[in-house]
Parts: sequence; C-alpha cells; structure tokens
Amino acid sequence: MLERLKTDILILGSGGAGLFAALHAHQANPDLSITVATKGLLGKCGCTRMVQGGYNVALNPGDSVERHFMDTIEGGKWLPNQDMAWTLITTAIERVRELENEVGCFFDRNPDGTLHGKAFAGQTFDRTVHKGDLTGIEIINRLMEQVWARPIARLEEHRAVALIPASDGQSLAGALLIDVRSGTFRFVEAKAVLLATGGGPTMYRYHTPSGDKSMDGLAMALRLGLPLRDMEMVQFHPTGLLAGPDTRMTGTVLEEGLRGAGGHLLNGHKRRFMEDYDPKLERATRDIVSRAIYAEMRAKRTSPHGGVYIKMSHLGPDKVATQFKGMVERCADCGFDLAGGLVEVVPTAHYFMGGLVCNVDTSTELPGLFVAGEDAGGAHGANRLGGNGVANSTVFGGIAGETMAAWIAANPGHRAPHEQAIGTEMARAQGPFARKPGNVNALREQLMDAMWDDVGVMRDATALHRGLQKVEAIEGELLGIGVSDGDRAFNLTWHDWLNLRSLVEISKVITLAALKRENSRGAHYREDFPDEGDLATSTFTVARQKDGRLDIVDEAVRFTIVKPGQSLLKDAAE
Ligand SMILES: Cc1cc2nc3c(=O)[nH]c(=O)nc-3n(C[C@H](O)[C@H](O)[C@H](O)COP(=O)(O)OP(=O)(O)OC[C@H]3O[C@@H](n4cnc5c(N)ncnc54)[C@H](O)[C@@H]3O)c2cc1C
Repeated sequence: MLERLKTDILILGSGGAGLFAALHAHQANPDLSITVATKGLLGKCGCTRMVQGGYNVALNPGDSVERHFMDTIEGGKWLPNQDMAWTLITTAIERVRELENEVGCFFDRNPDGTLHGKAFAGQTFDRTVHKGDLTGIEIINRLMEQVWARPIARLEEHRAVALIPASDGQSLAGALLIDVRSGTFRFVEAKAVLLATGGGPTMYRYHTPSGDKSMDGLAMALRLGLPLRDMEMVQFHPTGLLAGPDTRMTGTVLEEGLRGAGGHLLNGHKRRFMEDYDPKLERATRDIVSRAIYAEMRAKRTSPHGGVYIKMSHLGPDKVATQFKGMVERCADCGFDLAGGLVEVVPTAHYFMGGLVCNVDTSTELPGLFVAGEDAGGAHGANRLGGNGVANSTVFGGIAGETMAAWIAANPGHRAPHEQAIGTEMARAQGPFARKPGNVNALREQLMDAMWDDVGVMRDATALHRGLQKVEAIEGELLGIGVSDGDRAFNLTWHDWLNLRSLVEISKVITLAALKRENSRGAHYREDFPDEGDLATSTFTVARQKDGRLDIVDEAVRFTIVKPGQSLLKDAAE
C-alpha cells in the first residue's frame, strides 16, 4: 500500500543537522510547510543526543578562528574542503550563541561567566564547550522543544528507503518512506529534500553510533548515482568501553576529555605505552592513539577482554567523579570503577568522514537534494577533530534550512515523481518477503567481523581484498534470504534486513576506496603504504555507482585558503 503526502521541505533525520535545518527554514520563511521524517523518535534518536565531550568553538580571546581552522586542516591531513572547514569554524561561533540565547541550551561556565572550554586531543587550544560530559542531551532536548513549538510536521518512526527522482530524471521529486509502525509505504513529494541521516559506521565489530544509524542516506545516494567522497575515512575512537560480548555497552565511547584531562592508557602488563608511539602521548589524535592500542592488541599485551586499560585515578578519584560524572556512572553500570580503578577499552568505529559531495551551501549536484551533518563529505578530510562533529551538523543544518528556503523561492512548484522508480523501490524494499526467511543476524555478525578484521584500524592490500571477498559473499547470502511476511507493523526483522543491506552496500565502497588510496592519511592507515604521500598534490577519492558498477577516482584537493607548508597563524608565519 502506498500513501502520498506533499510538503515544501522534507528533512530526513532529526539529529543536530535535521532539527537545525527545520528551525532555520521556518525562520527564513514561516509559510513553508516543513516535514521532519525520522527513523526513530524526534529527540531520542541519532548521535547528536549521544554527544558527550562537547562543541568546538574559538571563543576565547587567546584562541582564534585561524587557529581552529589550522587544527582542522592539519588534523584532516590536508584533505578537507577548506571552504567548508572555514564556514564550519567561523559559523560555529554564531551557532553556539544561538544555541544558548535562542534555543535555550546552557553550557558550563568559568567563574567569570564565560563559557568553559575543555581540552580535546589533537587541538592546540582548550576550545570544547560542553555541558558536563553529556552535552548532546542538552542540545537535542532544547532543539526538540523548539521544533515542537513550531508548526513543523513530524513523521516519526519513518524510515526513508529511496530518493525518488523527478519524471525527467533531472532533479529530485521526494523520498519513499516506510512507516515502521504500520509497515505502510509513504511517498513524500517535496520541493527540497535534506539528507541528514547521519552516516554511522555501524558495520564494525566495535562501534559507537546509535542503533538506528545504518548508512541509509549514503546508500540511497549511491543507488541514485551520486558522488561520495572520502569513503575510506572511518574514524575509530580509541576508547570504546570493552565490557565483553554480552552487553551492548561494549563499543560505546568513553569520551575524549578523559585523555584530554590527563588519563593514561596502560597495556595488559599495566604499562603506559603511548610513549612508544607518539610524543603527544595520550593527547595525540584519535587515529594515532587507536593504532597504538591496536598494535598492543596485536602484540597480545591485552586486558582480559582483549583491549587495554584507561586509568584516571592518579588525577584524584573525587575530581574524576565530579568532572566526568556521566562516564563514571556508565562504567559503574558495567562493573568498572573509572574514578578509582582501571577500565578496559578498545578502538571503536565512531564517525564517518566520508559522505555525499556537496557545496558549502549544502546543495548537491542533483537539484532539489541538499545534505548536512555526518552524511555530507568534505569538512573533515581524513580525520575529524573531537568536538567538530556536532559543530558540523548544527552549522550546516542551519545553512541547509536557509539554502532550501531560498532555493524554493527561486524554484517554486513540486516536480512530478518518476512513478516507475517508486514502484521499483517499493519492490526492492519488499524483496525479502518473497524469499525464504534466513538468519539476518548471523550475517550482520559476519559483516562486523569482516570489517573489523580486514578493513579496520590498520589495512593492507591483502586484507582489503580478503575483506572485499567476505563482504561480497555476505551480500550474496543476504540477497538470497528473506524475512517472514507476517505483520509488517514494527517488523524489526524486515528493518534489520534493510539496515544490513545499506551497511553492506557502503562497506563495499569503504573497502574499494581504501584499496584505491595507496598512502596513509589520518584515519586511513595502509601498512603496505605507510607514507602520507606528497601533501602538495593531495587527492581525495570520489566513488560513484553507474549501471551497477562502482567507479572510484582521485580528485585533486583545492587549497583555496592555505597550502601545505603554510599557516594562517601569525606566529607560525613569522
Ligand atoms: C557516542 C558519541 C559521542 C559523540 N561525541 C561527540 C562530541 O563530544 N563532540 C562532537 O562534536 N561530536 C560527537 N559525536 C559525533 C556527533 O554525534 C555527530 O557528528 C553528529 O551528532 C551527527 O549529527 P547528524 O545530525 O548528522 O546525525 P544524527 O544526530 O546521528 O542524526 C541522524 C538522524 O537520522 C535518522 N535516520 C537514520 N537513517 C534514517 C532513515 N533511513 N530515514 C529517516 N531517518 C533516518 C536517525 O534516526 C537520526 O534521527 C559523538 C558521536 C557518538 C556516537
């Protein structure tokens, strides 16, 4: 069954990007009809809610946008789209003020009333604004209240399954959704659609993102033949909680601020090992610390569950318990004493730097389609600084809202959808009902192992080819099994199947892009090509699917603001 709805703006996803887009589009033109469609419940799903550490912003007089920018470019190993990075950093200042003064957030303060900035690894200034160590709950709750208070329509527990082109194929006409509560299909025709489904590399054995994220947005864009960049760039957070295989808490993140505040990492022999890997010790960037931990794990110097330990007690258990209350409670729930003892940790897939190619104003090559947040590629390059993620989604979400409102003013009217595409996509989504039920979860477990073992923290050609074979075999099996066609309302097995389909499609792109990049930059480390290559001739990968074939090409990075070897910092230039 297919129901049809019409709206001016359709926003897919209700994280920081989606909700900011809704607010800014409404502010730009209150007459526009705006619909937020989200896989979970508004305010309760996605990763913005899970933000712990905080929000990077250069507010302190001792800091500067140039310094924040250089940290971002150098952290991203010269691959970021510099215009996007500059917009991110300069607009973050205005966005944080908006969050406090208009949205109603309240962040922690210094005794003089200024916003407190905490230390985050890989940055040259303590600029991470926060609310304790559970910043995302403050941000998303207040955003949710603001959206509720406006005439913005909501389609909660609605999963987007396809972007539907217009009948002439030249622009986008809307999106096809499944109402998870009833199993009904809904086609939402929209003048502008925002992709804000938040990426989320949940195809790895250890991962942090929320369970509703399965790369659906990028998989939909891929199927439409749109270009995806930096797809090899999966960020591993060094300190995922390791509490054994029987708890979903394994893989969840213990925030960066722990290392920023002076936490130590110890191997299985209880020896502090970071000095063997980097002079910045535990405050080195996430990629370096993750690789160091992985190397200790491969050398079998591990904790009982196969990871390493984080130790905070030398900072004073009382201080740790006050400063990192949320983290201490999370660890206590799993039987660990973070303030006074040792907690087992493991690198965990955390963030996806890759995404849909877009312009600074969030428009894409397909008229009518916009993208913001973790679905958008370009701002971070090879590495995302901790604290730049939520800044990215709120900054570009707001920009997307304004851009879509302006775009609709210039391009009024809905565009008739490609009816055959709707039919094809409905058939595709219902494909599993036509086949004999199989064990979807077993395949998901296989995928998580394949990606962790062969396309993970450290890569080489042999492992990547092996990983590709495994992923293709999993795909073959998945396409051969189905789910039982009983009640389609809240048919979670069906949605597990669809999640796995998206994850497999994107896993293949990650693996092929990782094979294509024969050097090591940021999150992507090739043991067979450990050199970073020539920075001045840096390229980024762009993947595109055409007629079922995946092409990956290299494109030259344009250094529009600063070139390798240069700096915007006065003291560095002098
Ligand atoms: C545990 C954790 C801690 C983090 N801590 C920090 C931090 O301290 N600082 C920082 O800067 N960043 C942090 N991040 C990263 C940060 O959360 C993300 O960068 C950012 O929130 C992404 O925002 P978003 O709006 O793009 O996506 P999300 O907030 O993830 O929202 C995605 C939305 O899309 C919806 N969705 C998914 N698929 C579909 C579909 N098919 N159809 C419809 N809707 C769909 C989801 O339900 C959700 O509503 C953290 C991430 C995690 C997981």
